[in-house]
Amino acid sequence: MEDTYKIEITRDIFDIVSKCVRCRFCFTECPIYEVSDGWVTQGGSGITQSLYYGLKFDKIDEDLRNILMRCTTCRSCEIICERLMAGVKLVDAIHMGRQLLFELEIPPIREQQKALEFLQKFGNPYGMQPSKRIAWAKELNLKKLDGKSDIDTLYYVGCTPSYDDRVQKVARSIARILQQAGINFGIMENEKCSGDPALQMGERGLFEMLKEENVNKFGNAGVKAVVTTSPHDFNCFLKEYSENLKDIEIKHYTEYFSDLVDQGKITYKNEIRQKVTFQDPCYLGKHNKITAQPRKILSSIPGIELIEMQRNRENSLCCGGGGGRIWADFDEESHLAEVRVLEALETGAEVLVTACPFCLINFTDAIKVLDKENAIVAKDISEIMFEAVIS
Ligand code: SF4
Ligand code: SF4
Repeated sequence: MEDTYKIEITRDIFDIVSKCVRCRFCFTECPIYEVSDGWVTQGGSGITQSLYYGLKFDKIDEDLRNILMRCTTCRSCEIICERLMAGVKLVDAIHMGRQLLFELEIPPIREQQKALEFLQKFGNPYGMQPSKRIAWAKELNLKKLDGKSDIDTLYYVGCTPSYDDRVQKVARSIARILQQAGINFGIMENEKCSGDPALQMGERGLFEMLKEENVNKFGNAGVKAVVTTSPHDFNCFLKEYSENLKDIEIKHYTEYFSDLVDQGKITYKNEIRQKVTFQDPCYLGKHNKITAQPRKILSSIPGIELIEMQRNRENSLCCGGGGGRIWADFDEESHLAEVRVLEALETGAEVLVTACPFCLINFTDAIKVLDKENAIVAKDISEIMFEAVIS
């Protein structure tokens, strides 16, 4: 690795960390600190101080890697620091630290390395065949968007909804709602990962490769809008591709559907008499302030009663799946998704609704582990919306 690169990234990390006055308010908001029995190397400031001392005393090793990789990148620490203190860009520093570790040939943890190898080889982190990518859409008769066409909206499905059995139902619901609303949209047969997992795990080079491919594909397709299933892909396209996708509107499907509700393009045929509570996915609420739109969709569905958990919107509790953690298993006092399911149960809701593939997977597993399958179920908003729309 170029010495200048190390010097520059180290300087950038020091610049960020030096703004911290060590008040430790950020510890109080960190979900990992909450479930890790209060380790001082956790919490936004704990992690970034560890990174600072690792760099200062040239102790860049797997222990430091493990500290950095526990972070879900939920951004709760940054939010409290913005509100009360110096607005330290803790998540940027953590991402830079991960990138630096990768460049110094200290790769992410074993299961994450496997995901990166799959990403490089197959264009998805699960090692699934690219030819099976749109198998979920077999009977839906969707338009394919692999070249110039008159289609103006791309539904970017993402890796997890394309291949995971449970989350494929979400992709089908979104596609069917778009069809019912009369949207001129298509999917890509040769869709590949947005690159976000690579970015989260510090593999910037692989991310740049995937980005270049996607930018070319989106540009060649001539679309005006890209709608994503995942808040992670949405955030990645919005923040990391923005220079290259200036003329394309990037939307998470909850924003897009909320607009369709406003425009009167969604017609409900069924009443859904259910008490639900909503999990704000971190990359919608905390990273992009998208909290009203999912609630607008829920309140538009006849029969739905929304009961808020105590921690909601920007103060929501992370499910534990962000920041590359979905591909790793950490030994923690308790699992965040289980903590959150218990909070959902306290509201009396029968459905824990979310709008993120990782949340859905984590909550579905947590409900099973807690043996609460008779009390609550995890669903995506699009699934409930679809149940209300179908005749
Ligand atoms: S809240 Fe901000 S200033 Fe206080 S310890 Fe955390 S990062 Fe530092
Ligand atoms: S981003 Fe979230 S998990 Fe990471 S240190 Fe900050 S509060 Fe903790």
